[in-house]
Amino acid sequence: MNWFRHDNIHAPRGATLHCRGWGQEAALRMLMNNLDPAVAEDPAHLIVYGGRGRAARSWDAYDKIVETLMKLENDETLLIQSGKPVAVFRTQPSAPRVLIANSNLVGKWASLDEFNRLEAEGLTMYGQMTAGSWVYIGSQGIIQGTFQTLVALATQHFQADHLRGRLYVSAGLGGMGGAQPLAAKMLEGVALIADVDPRRIQRRLDSGYLDAGMTSIPEAVTRALEAKAQGESYTIGIQCHANELLAYLRERHIVPDILSDQTAAHDPLVGYIPDGYGVDEAAALRAKDPTEYLCLARASIGRHVEQMLSLQAAGAVTFDYGNNIRREALDAGVDHAFDIPGYVPATIRELFSEGKGPFRWAALSGDPEDIYRMDDLALEMFGDNPLLRRWFALARKYIHFQGLPARIAYMGQGERDAFALKVNDLVAQGVLHAPVVFGRDHHDTGSVASPYRETEAMQDGSDAIADWPILNALLNVASGAHWVAFHHGGGTGIGYSLHSGAQTVADGSSDSADRLARVLWNDPGIGVVRHADAGYEKAQRTLEAFPERFNTPLLGPTHVPTNK
Ligand code: NAD
Repeated sequence: MNWFRHDNIHAPRGATLHCRGWGQEAALRMLMNNLDPAVAEDPAHLIVYGGRGRAARSWDAYDKIVETLMKLENDETLLIQSGKPVAVFRTQPSAPRVLIANSNLVGKWASLDEFNRLEAEGLTMYGQMTAGSWVYIGSQGIIQGTFQTLVALATQHFQADHLRGRLYVSAGLGGMGGAQPLAAKMLEGVALIADVDPRRIQRRLDSGYLDAGMTSIPEAVTRALEAKAQGESYTIGIQCHANELLAYLRERHIVPDILSDQTAAHDPLVGYIPDGYGVDEAAALRAKDPTEYLCLARASIGRHVEQMLSLQAAGAVTFDYGNNIRREALDAGVDHAFDIPGYVPATIRELFSEGKGPFRWAALSGDPEDIYRMDDLALEMFGDNPLLRRWFALARKYIHFQGLPARIAYMGQGERDAFALKVNDLVAQGVLHAPVVFGRDHHDTGSVASPYRETEAMQDGSDAIADWPILNALLNVASGAHWVAFHHGGGTGIGYSLHSGAQTVADGSSDSADRLARVLWNDPGIGVVRHADAGYEKAQRTLEAFPERFNTPLLGPTHVPTNK
């Protein structure tokens, strides 16, 4: 195998080690998996997903990371500074093997303009969430969140646990956005999603995330309305701008049942194509005149949110899906942009209060049978949870693996560690064909401060308090995760979020068992504590459910004495 090739990268599969331990090996395989053409959106530019979310700063940096991981000892730790390897230090055997810090800037300098300047100087890289922390698993990584969000909206607004006979309209069929149509399909609904880029539409068709790709808005809308009338579940990607689709719907008084957006509007320079521009024309303008590009993109975003507000007023259940489009629109002069609710307060916070979030695992064997065996285990352990049971059946039926076979499941406090320990036993017994890596999105219960997304409208007003994700990262280091990352700017963009991630390998050893038991209890645990501290009753009840294990001196808001 040529370890240093830059095209057509595939992580090694199987039980043979190429590094000096499974912590290093898992980090190496997941880095390579992030850049697998079946996984990454634009691997030639090291871009994994989410606008310009990269796995490494440059190909030289990538080569050096690969080389270093292959030599790294079991008492050493590699440090990555914004996608570039900078040092190896002797630490200790139960410490993480890799520590990553991506895109972090001091508060006053944390603007997109300053980030762009520093990136152009070669000093930083945009890590998004799972791109720079090497645990992206393709569109599957977000699909259960989208599914959970849509189930919650169906329950709240249509008193149903499905979307049969309902039309979901959105834009963006990128790495995350591509999950929207399949999540709607899993709920038996109809999805109509605009994307300017025909290659993205083709990619979702090839991976089974879309039923049809069309170029004519009238034909696509007619087909979608037919499917809705017949209660047929059908998904269509339309090659057009979001604004073109919404204008067409408005002119004909067609009101979607649910409306959202997943263009990468958090990064208007790279992630949003201005009205009237094709992908190649947009790239040319971006290179020639970034200021003009930003001006046009922001004006288009403003029109886009105005149209969403108008359809919301006409009755569409409208929500912001975590791409900061409301804030960009507000800055473009759309005063009522925040009349559109964010999805976290509306649907996900309840889950966070139980320690639930986008927990995931990947089979380093490369063997889908290992994932199916773990699906069975999850059902044996948690089959009495109807939503999880439904999710595993749907995932098995609809999800095509991208790169290393992987699975995601919103497991909560006490479930993640129990499950991973049983998996570790299956690895030890040789039932699974190689070790398994457990990780998660940064979009989780205790790992993000993002006032327009994960921490929007916190009950105690603590939206912008960023101590929690820092404590989360430090706790995961102290607990012995195999690699830990702390990033700025994922999801909602530069200046708007701070977040962390942690991955731990089950290699069947007692060392793995100890690490998994600590990390996978503590990591969601700090999320439950964060929500209990903010006053969420459900989180307080989650703490009370484990009186032996949470020794938590919660005080509520404590005001600093003044010296007046
Ligand atoms: P991406 O960059 O892979 O895809 C964005 C897509 O939007 C592209 O296909 C692009 O062609 C399309 N697009 C851009 N402008 C358009 C326009 N005017 N009309 C129609 N289509 C247009 O991004 P992604 O990974 O899909 O993420 C989408 C957004 O969701 C990002 O803002 C991301 O931060 C956010 N998000 C991230 C996470 C996470 O990181 N965990 C989770 C949820 C949402």
